[in-house]
Amino acid sequence: MKRRLCILSAFAVLVAVAFFTGAGDAQPGTVKQIVPGVWFREGDLDKLGHCNNIIIEMKDYLIVVDANFPSGARLAMEAAKKVSDKPVKYVFDTHHHGDHSYGNAVWTQAGATTLAYKGVAEEMKRYEPKRWQATEKERQDVADMHADSVEPPKQTFDKTPFILKDDTREVRFYFFGWAHTRGDGFVYLPKEKVLCSGDAAVNGPYNYTADGNIGNWPKVTAAALKLDVEHVLPGHGGPGGKELLDGQGRFMTELHSAVAAAVKQGKKLDDIVKKDGDKLVSTSIQLPDNAKNWVGEGLPDQVRDTYEEITQHKPHGDIPHP
Ligand SMILES: [Zn+2]
Repeated sequence: MKRRLCILSAFAVLVAVAFFTGAGDAQPGTVKQIVPGVWFREGDLDKLGHCNNIIIEMKDYLIVVDANFPSGARLAMEAAKKVSDKPVKYVFDTHHHGDHSYGNAVWTQAGATTLAYKGVAEEMKRYEPKRWQATEKERQDVADMHADSVEPPKQTFDKTPFILKDDTREVRFYFFGWAHTRGDGFVYLPKEKVLCSGDAAVNGPYNYTADGNIGNWPKVTAAALKLDVEHVLPGHGGPGGKELLDGQGRFMTELHSAVAAAVKQGKKLDDIVKKDGDKLVSTSIQLPDNAKNWVGEGLPDQVRDTYEEITQHKPHGDIPHP
């Protein structure tokens, strides 16, 4: 089934969603200082498929959150050079998706160490090189890497939080469970109360649920909410506060319970989503207003994934698709 084949179809949806809804206060390409020494670069998702990057200044070096696609890696690298003379020492992949990790080799060739929770490397083993090879056909920057697959993170950790610390700052890397992927990493700065959430919490209709665990997702955002947080810097969409974690969890809770109610009423998938050819174009599932920031053109796909998760009694990412 083509619709499952790769992340690319998800990008097409995301691009369409962002284009049609003008979600959030999108400012692609801008670099904003969030607190002294922490910068947020908003990726251009619409045109380039890029994720956001966060640059964190330590005493002698920089940490960059997310490798991005190769072309996004180069833009983030330029941004890092503009804000500081210090070298980028670590690049943290929040998860394995191409828009967060396919630029890994760009960073390591420039002397940085790529870092991730071990679940990210495991997801790469599960899904690659199939997705890389499909993406090469669609994206010149990936094709231009002339590689057979994504470069896995050079350093992984399995006990969390993993901590990087010096005289000026402490940075903690957490795994709170399976939400968007089995490897979702969060980056937390306790003193500055900054949390980078990857795609486990986004700001706008950018949720991609195919590799996810929709039923468990709210538990992950709830665990993150236990941290003392003021600034949430998501993988897609603009920066925000704690309400992003709260709202992301609520969206998944409402999605799950609305689809579960339909299943209970005996509804079939075709009763709740409408197709045009292979593409899902609409759904009868409605979500409350306080989840609307996360509702967009991807909703029919999210409803289908949730329906499959509920009726097959396993996390969506565990359901095999050809
Ligand atoms: Zn993702």
